[in-house]
Amino acid sequence: MKRKILKQYFGYDDFREGQEVLIDSILSGRDTFGIMPTGAGKSLCFQIPALIMEGITLVVSPLISLMKDQVGALNQAGIHAAYLNSSLTTNQYYKALKLAGEGRYPIIYVAPERLLTDSFLDFALHARIAMVAVDEAHCVSQWGQDFRPSYLKITEFIERLPSRPVVSAFTASATKEVREDIVDILMLRDPAVMSTGFDRPNLYFEVQTPKNKYNTLSEYVKKHTGESGIIYCLTRKQVEEVCGNLIREGVSATRYHAGLGDEERKKNQDDFIYDRSPVMVATNAFGMGIDKSNVRYVIHYNMPKNMESYYQEAGRAGRDGEPAECILYYGGQDVVMNQFFIEHNQDNVELNDITRQLVRERDHERLKKMTFYCFTNECLRDYMLRYFGEYGGNYCGNCSNCMTQFEEVDITEMAEALTGCIREAGQRYGINVIIDTVHGANTAKIRQYRMDQSSFYGKLPGVPVYKLRQIMNDLLVDGYIRLTNDDYMIVKLTEKARDILEGKAVIMMKMAKEQEQREKKESRPKKKSSAAMQLKAEDEQLFERLRKLRTEIAREENVPPYIVFSDKSLIHMCILKPGNREEMLKVSGVGEFKYEKYGERFLEELKLGTG
Ligand code: ADP
Ligand code: MG
Repeated sequence: MKRKILKQYFGYDDFREGQEVLIDSILSGRDTFGIMPTGAGKSLCFQIPALIMEGITLVVSPLISLMKDQVGALNQAGIHAAYLNSSLTTNQYYKALKLAGEGRYPIIYVAPERLLTDSFLDFALHARIAMVAVDEAHCVSQWGQDFRPSYLKITEFIERLPSRPVVSAFTASATKEVREDIVDILMLRDPAVMSTGFDRPNLYFEVQTPKNKYNTLSEYVKKHTGESGIIYCLTRKQVEEVCGNLIREGVSATRYHAGLGDEERKKNQDDFIYDRSPVMVATNAFGMGIDKSNVRYVIHYNMPKNMESYYQEAGRAGRDGEPAECILYYGGQDVVMNQFFIEHNQDNVELNDITRQLVRERDHERLKKMTFYCFTNECLRDYMLRYFGEYGGNYCGNCSNCMTQFEEVDITEMAEALTGCIREAGQRYGINVIIDTVHGANTAKIRQYRMDQSSFYGKLPGVPVYKLRQIMNDLLVDGYIRLTNDDYMIVKLTEKARDILEGKAVIMMKMAKEQEQREKKESRPKKKSSAAMQLKAEDEQLFERLRKLRTEIAREENVPPYIVFSDKSLIHMCILKPGNREEMLKVSGVGEFKYEKYGERFLEELKLGTG
């Protein structure tokens, strides 16, 4: 039954990792908790049981855009589903509720704040609710990123139902505290917990430290014309700047941040989703609930505040499982800005002083781990997975570190000079002053601080500043020095530094082999950053034509293109070149319902291509 539904409605031949176990568990009547990374396919895990179980499934979801998207996709697949949220007029709302009461929809998406309203309760108490599925379940936890007080109403709602439905919960948020909160707060009963790995093998990760971020970005975006991408900036001002510049250069970009009015935000978001503006420049206000499957790159113009944010935001790339790139542009200023945000965080005003201080310390700690991600020379994927409590291999072959040649370099002499200089100056200055001193820079600041009198002044004139900075970073990561958590970020020595100062340590560091790195960068195998690049040259045109047809249909139906068919389905069509109905149904993502709607038109286009 479940396989038949998978094929008939969704057009897929096989379940992905974890899906079948979760579906079976729900069907056996057990509370179920699924933890799977973004893009892994959580929706199917509650949608398929919903179609099999006797009764209605209520899906609680935090965002209007998310509900709209998922209900749109279900309707496209020929499944009756509806949503109940504040985007409906009163009339529409009551009409939907009436149809729901008549049993028209096996799946109903509902906003958490609706659950305990009289009208909704009136419906729910008289209907047969088979399951309550809580999507984005981390929203119940204060430890999570997106705590939503209205999620706390879910439990009360369930308790008021005449008979308890199966409760299922889904999230991509991994940390232990959040998981425990979900089970406790939603009062899951002896839940089957299923967690698939967090790795997203199709994502390529890279950290760069560009001299000029904008130029680097602009070059990248132009190289990827026609592809959809998101660029995250730390501030609204930067969003405005970057987006404005891109548009001036002829890039079809749009923007999103909390400073824009509702109307414009919605319009810009739709432009992005419907591929009218394939490039989105945004603050972290953007993205929650965006299920756009064909985002081919996510660039962080600034380092975000912690790894959780980074993985979530970067994870919006490549949801269709096709290759996609996640690139972070690191700059020292990013740390300063994030420190500032942590110190001046206004979100925690209701907390008492002690708690607030704890939260702040935790935030600083998380920022530090994020910074180390930018400094590490080890496998980036491994670093991330370990952060989330998993074990990666220490070589993934699909991140900038794995693709760079490194050599072990003895940096003992440099480490001695740097730590010695810090000590002699009384641990009073920031990183730049120390580096400039050791390098022998002749600047006003150095003279003003009298660092030109230091016995370490000009001790290593031959080592370029960027290298000294790398060494400082390495000493930070390895815990020989640390930075204070205030806006000044003064370098302090740790206990561990004593070995260096006493000349008892030999310090080795992995450094990129320079020449080879440059060659490597250029000859980086055409890393299929574009989905279409997997196709043979003669099929690329076909792909473009199918894409055009998809856009046409999407416009007629008023849905985002990727809801008609994903990039993956189009690529699959180009490879398989189906000639009839039966063959078309073999294409991943082509179910019977969609075939009836669009199949012929795509077949025709394919015939033109191959005939
Ligand atoms: P999540 O909620 O876990 O982030 P979604 O449920 O939005 O992920 O699914 C992401 C994409 O994967 C969707 O485009 C979906 O159609 C696709 N997908 C889900 N299950 C399968 C499957 N078994 N085979 C192929 N594609 C799938
Ligand atoms: Mg989801």
